[in-house]
Amino acid sequence: MSIASLLSGLAVAAALTAAPALAAPRVVSDIAPIHSIVAAVMGDLGAPDLLVPPGTPEHDAALRPSDAAALDAADVVVWVGPGLTPWLEGPLDALAPGAVRVTLLDAPGLRLLPRRSGGTFEAHVHGHEDEHDAQGHDAHGHDEHGHDEHGHEDEAGADPHVWLDPENAAVIATTVAEALAAADPANAAEYRANAAAFGAETAALTARLATGLAAAQGRTFVVFHDAYRYFEHRFGFAAAGAISANDAAPPSAARIAEIRALVVDAGAICVFSEPQFDQGLVATVIEGTPARAGVLDPLGVGVEPGPGLYPALLARLAGGMIGCLAPPA
Ligand SMILES: [Zn+2]
Repeated sequence: MSIASLLSGLAVAAALTAAPALAAPRVVSDIAPIHSIVAAVMGDLGAPDLLVPPGTPEHDAALRPSDAAALDAADVVVWVGPGLTPWLEGPLDALAPGAVRVTLLDAPGLRLLPRRSGGTFEAHVHGHEDEHDAQGHDAHGHDEHGHDEHGHEDEAGADPHVWLDPENAAVIATTVAEALAAADPANAAEYRANAAAFGAETAALTARLATGLAAAQGRTFVVFHDAYRYFEHRFGFAAAGAISANDAAPPSAARIAEIRALVVDAGAICVFSEPQFDQGLVATVIEGTPARAGVLDPLGVGVEPGPGLYPALLARLAGGMIGCLAPPA
């Protein structure tokens, strides 16, 4: 063998070894806001799949055949947890057995707030009101029993809509970046840099939104389902009540009458519906009251999924609250 052919053989071997950088892990996420944060963390390295498209009520949905294929091929699955999407737990167990599962409700540093109970927040929680009343729980108390309307006891009653606190979104980005860094160490620095950039941009947006929302502070409102506690907490609001915490079951006529009484008694300015639910319900609730109808959307309905969805979602929530609670004169 000549030196020349040996060298050319080595060159071929070197070319075969110097394969292009390994592809980014295949990532599947649950709802559009989480998908958006994951997409921001992945940046140019790849794009996650989305299981629950905007417009689907998050607590009660079913897997599509294309989702099963995505889950089957997943390296990393990012989901909020069983407190938000109990229906997803079985499919995740069955279809992504080899994938790293990131359950965000367990993420270190995430701010968890207990589910609201008491007053009109508790009438729709199935069956446990009496014992909880007897123990003196209130709307702001910590609920040791962890009951919730979705049938899980293991998240100690944490409200699962954690992404609506922008500081939690930054924690989610960091958590996802660490999971991706572990799965794909070659790109660890890029995941971490993307998460840091997401956190900085979200903090800047939060400051701008807080300025606008100041005009609406102290105004009373009722929400469709009790999804906004984290957003309210971050920006200094508190809903007077929720029409339905159980997305799967429409409220009864008695419940609507109760909410209408609340709207009048509390002097609510706004009753907020959600794009994925029956708009007529809110119209029925506000009929004959001075309240206006507004829309709040916790999931990003009508926004293109991707890194831009999360900031758009926050901006739309703020805009929806300002527009209904403190419209420009
Ligand atoms: Zn919800």
